Amino acid sequence: MDDTKTTMATPVHRMDPPEPPKPHQGCDVCEALVGERVDAARLGDWSRVVDVNVEIGRHRAVRHA
Ligand SMILES: [Zn+2]
Repeated sequence: MDDTKTTMATPVHRMDPPEPPKPHQGCDVCEALVGERVDAARLGDWSRVVDVNVEIGRHRAVRHA
């Protein structure tokens, strides 16, 4: 017998994308990347959304650190 609790586990499969990095105000590159992310989300291409989020994060770290 195991004595693990039988409380409800949090759902593993969530449709919400991870918290997106915020674009830097007035930056063309950020705006372009966010536009790309919006398009990908509209198409349901979540792997692309994640890719773009990574790109935004990387770009922010280099240009807006
Ligand atoms: Zn930027």
